[in-house]
Amino acid sequence: MKEKEIVSLRACSTYDSNEVYDAVRSLFDDLGGISRFIKKGMVVALKPNLLLPLGPDNSATTHPEIVGAVGRLVKEVGATPIIVESPGGPYTKVTLKAIYKACGITEICNRYGIEMNFDISTVNVTVDAYGRTRSFNILKPLVEADFVINIPKLKTHGMMAYTGAVKNMFGAIAGTEKATHHMNVPDYDAFASNMIDICISADPNLTVMDAVEAMEGNGPSAGKTRKLGLLLASESPFSLDMAAHDIINLKIDESYILSQAVNRGIPLDYECVGDSIDEFKVLDFDIPYRKGNGFRKRNLLNSKILTSFKSRPLVNKDICIGCAVCKKNCPAEVITMVNRKPAFDYKGCIRCFCCQELCPEHAISIKEPIIIKILKLGRKPR
Ligand code: SF4
Ligand code: SF4
Repeated sequence: MKEKEIVSLRACSTYDSNEVYDAVRSLFDDLGGISRFIKKGMVVALKPNLLLPLGPDNSATTHPEIVGAVGRLVKEVGATPIIVESPGGPYTKVTLKAIYKACGITEICNRYGIEMNFDISTVNVTVDAYGRTRSFNILKPLVEADFVINIPKLKTHGMMAYTGAVKNMFGAIAGTEKATHHMNVPDYDAFASNMIDICISADPNLTVMDAVEAMEGNGPSAGKTRKLGLLLASESPFSLDMAAHDIINLKIDESYILSQAVNRGIPLDYECVGDSIDEFKVLDFDIPYRKGNGFRKRNLLNSKILTSFKSRPLVNKDICIGCAVCKKNCPAEVITMVNRKPAFDYKGCIRCFCCQELCPEHAISIKEPIIIKILKLGRKPR
């Protein structure tokens, strides 16, 4: 029987480059040292979360100092780090250049001599241990790298409740092909199983999570910064997510992806090394969209009787600038622009909340029906 996966935790109170570098090096040391994993001459793909072209202060993307520290350590053993990511929206060289710049990645890469990927080709990858989908088109530089380091941000998520290590690998799917997955797999549990399949296909060797400043509330792009002062690392993205759930007080049965992991027999047990996990646990992390809160199964979503009980995207027209990013990224194509503001056809809406996730102005929120708010009342404080 396999021993528990090791999850390393290290305090990191700020994004000061020296503090981050020391903390990331300690994470690697806890796991046996970076040279245990990475050898001279290897190409190492670094996969951050660059969801939107937002600056690091928004807490929506992996902070560039974390990416830079990992890249520096990779270079110190004589390997070549390269940033590989497919953000939300179109996946082109032009959009990559813009997002790298906006997220602070260009500056950090120039500072430390880290490469940025502009190869937008994909490779079909087939996995045996699949739950929902057997093969995916995965970003070629991820597939061809000798080693992949997944560098997610700890955040809440409007559809999946939480996004961290496993969900971050959805960025291994090129640009708007992600919308196809949303349309093909609208049921939330099935979609979560698909996320697991994608993570297994992209096969990250190591995960280093940015939880120095996490995001709570209206995540994954419009929530509030919640300082946790922590970095985590593990060879298992599943065990790392389990540790993160324990830190933010999110139970397995409230979390779509980890519920599916349990159903599929994927081990989540972990043993902590480094700093004590108890120092970082918070009881009041704001997670508004827990599994079980709403009617989110495909058959229920299609029920006309339950229309008024479904969570739905809602636009704040005072904030909306009429850019139509939401319309362009709606997998179900149920958004029309009326007087330069989005109008939603809720009958066809699959509640993927891509519109809320990708709105650059945070103008879309998820409106929960009154019945769900009442159901949640009994759950607080946790
Ligand atoms: S809601 Fe957001 S994404 Fe949609 S048009 Fe307005 S600002 Fe753009
Ligand atoms: S309107 Fe928003 S939540 Fe509904 S399908 Fe389109 S992107 Fe998804």
